[in-house]
Amino acid sequence: MNIQVTKSSMPSYEEYCDEIKKLWDSRWLTNMGVEHKTLQVELERYLNCPHVILYTNGHLALENIIAAMGFPQGGEVITTPYTFVSTTHAIVRNGLVPIFCDINPQDFTIDVDKIESLITNKTVAIVPVHVYGNMCDVDKIKEIADTYKIKVIYDAAHAFAVKYKGISAADFGDASVFSFHATKVFNTIEGGAVCLQNDDLVSVLNDMKNFGIRGPERVVFVGGNAKMNEFQAAMGICNLRHIDDEIIKRKKVAECYRDRLDGIAGIKLCKTQEGVEPNYAYFPVVFDGYKYSRDVVFDKLAKEGIGARKYFYPITNDLECYANYPTAGVEKTPIAAYLADRILTLPMYSDLLNKDVEKICQIILD
Ligand SMILES: *Cc1c(COP(=O)(O)O)cnc(C)c1O
Repeated sequence: MNIQVTKSSMPSYEEYCDEIKKLWDSRWLTNMGVEHKTLQVELERYLNCPHVILYTNGHLALENIIAAMGFPQGGEVITTPYTFVSTTHAIVRNGLVPIFCDINPQDFTIDVDKIESLITNKTVAIVPVHVYGNMCDVDKIKEIADTYKIKVIYDAAHAFAVKYKGISAADFGDASVFSFHATKVFNTIEGGAVCLQNDDLVSVLNDMKNFGIRGPERVVFVGGNAKMNEFQAAMGICNLRHIDDEIIKRKKVAECYRDRLDGIAGIKLCKTQEGVEPNYAYFPVVFDGYKYSRDVVFDKLAKEGIGARKYFYPITNDLECYANYPTAGVEKTPIAAYLADRILTLPMYSDLLNKDVEKICQIILD
């Protein structure tokens, strides 16, 4: 067998060709052309968000929105280590200090009961992560942020199309950031976006992603370059046409896994959160007290040509690049550390066949 942990969603070859044909006529390949504008408007509609600023990838979107907030250097940002390295890097690359908060063992998002004890007079923001598409406790986080007058920037890379009490994941906090990387539920090959409720930071983000250029002879800001190009936007336009179908298919895959793995001693699955419309981005499984350890299951699957992923392992406060950071160290986040040793995300993509899911489960259970 050869089953990867994920397979990028793509439109048909013909559909994409049709979409990019106009680029051969216009010869306009990047710099906010027609495709970029179209995708932006369509995402604003789909995500029900007034301001979507497109990026060449999710990481630069996150880096730029943190920079756009204008926090003082050395400011402290409360975040979790149970995430993709991008979250922590985006904080550190902005000259800010990551303060690692532990996660809760139910949905693996930030433990809101542990945030307040980490707040100091240097705290400027909270950067929580909607892990696997599980929504953070957005209500409690808002309450804390309002009390202490600090900003909230959600890493919503996993949460495209997720809704909480009918509200889009794009609409929480001071900003929410999506990734449209090839491995995400919705992709633009590489890509990302910052989603904002008001227009305060829209122009500074546009300056940051395009050198601060406002006109042929006018540069107002020392910006970088993080623009989404027309081929990326075209892929997004095509993929967005099929996103609802994709999620329905993913749901069927998730149900198939659940049928086989739910209730097995030592295997824990994520519960569907109350009030949340999920996107089935990943299928995480925790091996805790199971007859085989996570690493043994991983190796068994690998031997059969099945790619699972130790996601997230290692956690970011355990990475070599943060070894000398005074705030790093896994002992500060014991639940995240415990989970990182036991978690495996199983293959998940829309056209994963039921019979393949059954084989995967058979190998795990044999
Ligand atoms: C994918 C991802 C990112 C980074 O997005 P890119 O588009 O790959 O730059 C950030 N945070 C999390 C949690 C992610 O999964």
